[in-house]
Amino acid sequence: MDDAIVVGSGPNGLAAAVTLARAGLRVRVLERADTIGGAARTLPLTLDGFRHDVGAAVHPLALASPFFRAFQLDRRVRFIVPEISYTQPLGVAAGGIAYRDLDRTAEELGRDGAAWARLFRPLIRDIDGLTDFTANQMLRWPQAPVTALRFGLRALEQGGGLWNARFREDVAPALLTGVTAHGVGRVPSLASAAVGLVLAAHAHARGWPVPIGGSQSIIDALADDLAAHGGAVETGQEVVDLRDLAGARILVADTSARALARIGRGVLPPAYVRSLEGLRYGDGVAKVDFALSGPVPWSFDAARHSPTVHLGGSRRQVQRAEAAVAAGAVAAEPYVLVSQPTIVDPSRAPSGRHVLWAYIHVPHGSPHDPTEDVTRMVEAAAPGFRDLVLAGVSHTARELAETDPNLIGGDISAGAITLPQLIARPRLSPHPWRTPAPGLYLGSSSTPPASGVHGLAGFYAARLALKDVLGLPAPDLGLG
Ligand SMILES: Cc1cc2nc3c(=O)[nH]c(=O)nc-3n(C[C@H](O)[C@H](O)[C@H](O)COP(=O)(O)OP(=O)(O)OC[C@H]3O[C@@H](n4cnc5c(N)ncnc54)[C@H](O)[C@@H]3O)c2cc1C
Repeated sequence: MDDAIVVGSGPNGLAAAVTLARAGLRVRVLERADTIGGAARTLPLTLDGFRHDVGAAVHPLALASPFFRAFQLDRRVRFIVPEISYTQPLGVAAGGIAYRDLDRTAEELGRDGAAWARLFRPLIRDIDGLTDFTANQMLRWPQAPVTALRFGLRALEQGGGLWNARFREDVAPALLTGVTAHGVGRVPSLASAAVGLVLAAHAHARGWPVPIGGSQSIIDALADDLAAHGGAVETGQEVVDLRDLAGARILVADTSARALARIGRGVLPPAYVRSLEGLRYGDGVAKVDFALSGPVPWSFDAARHSPTVHLGGSRRQVQRAEAAVAAGAVAAEPYVLVSQPTIVDPSRAPSGRHVLWAYIHVPHGSPHDPTEDVTRMVEAAAPGFRDLVLAGVSHTARELAETDPNLIGGDISAGAITLPQLIARPRLSPHPWRTPAPGLYLGSSSTPPASGVHGLAGFYAARLALKDVLGLPAPDLGLG
């Protein structure tokens, strides 16, 4: 008999499982796929010897996460923290560079350098206060109210009509919009500004780290710790009805809110099921993975040293592309998010070869294949790219949901990132991870703090379960 069962082995599911196992419970994780890790897996998607991140690629949120810091992730997984966090090529051989070093970034941003530094310095100075505010759910008094206020004012500025007020040239606003667009949705908006400011602040604080071996290294570190504490993961086990798991004292679902409504219908009150079903899903991503015969010959030299590259042009051009998606179309000149991890981690491809992953935003559930859009956009910024491609595998937004059912319609956040849904996720509650069914918790990115590999949603769900059901405190998570 299990004390606890976790449904799903994404980073949140495994974080929940580790927390419960370390509290002394017998824990089993049931995963529907044949491999563990959800949207943080690394798999051989193209040719022999090439390993690709299925989803997550860079990990500012993992390094900042209070869960992973207690877990001492940086002592279990080797991260490369590149000198350049991200770049945004603009035109021929020009562009913006976000160095980990804020001063250097500001220096190279010319007339907008001082404005960039003023935007981020107060947030970076208290990066843990910022993380406390944004990585927990917002219905509580922040530990660092002044930092929270500074963040809020900046989000209001960058999320609305004043977003150009502090800038005089084009590069700095384009550089910021490239990060802001990670939020998927119209720019400017409060939610996308919040996402962009958090990610950009981390870029200058602890950096944008790339794990050696891919995101799978993070997953494997969690699974190893779970096994060391007596827990087990079973793959190829889809849970279709939670009543089949009766007997476990604690259940944590690392599923989307919509899936919990379906598999929990027999144990949850109808009103709560309706609130789970009320969570809205956002526009999707369509992704392509390439195996390359060599590094990408970016015209903008800094992009050759930047694991993450944003394409799509100026602030105005990215705004137009994101507006097209929000209106239900595929943008003619889409925003492209490129990850080229092998420039810092050659272990993922045969000697001299590279992997590259890129996605564009598309309408929810779109069947659009992004291969040609991505190839054209990268080729324009790196003439000769096309000739490097040895193989490519694409996933439409619709197909992404077949690889991981939490990615509904290609929405990488298991629920659209909007201001109301950052506060009420999946519904308004100081404890949104708790369900009305005794012992049942939701711990996926359909709960705060939403998407990203931080393990926090699973950790918060497991911590609450230990307190509610067994009166236990959160266990020690460190290496000891
Ligand atoms: C293309 C892409 C790029 C991304 N880039 C980044 C990035 O660079 N950095 C970052 O921090 N984040 C990134 N993300 C987001 C990040 O990967 C997710 O937010 C994170 O993986 C969510 O973790 P999770 O545990 O909540 O869910 P998931 O990782 O989605 O895992 C859920 C697991 O539950 C399983 N499951 C669901 N239902 C059932 C069921 N009924 N029975 C059994 N098993 C079930 C699924 O098969 C899956 O394995 C990206 C995501 C995608 C898709």
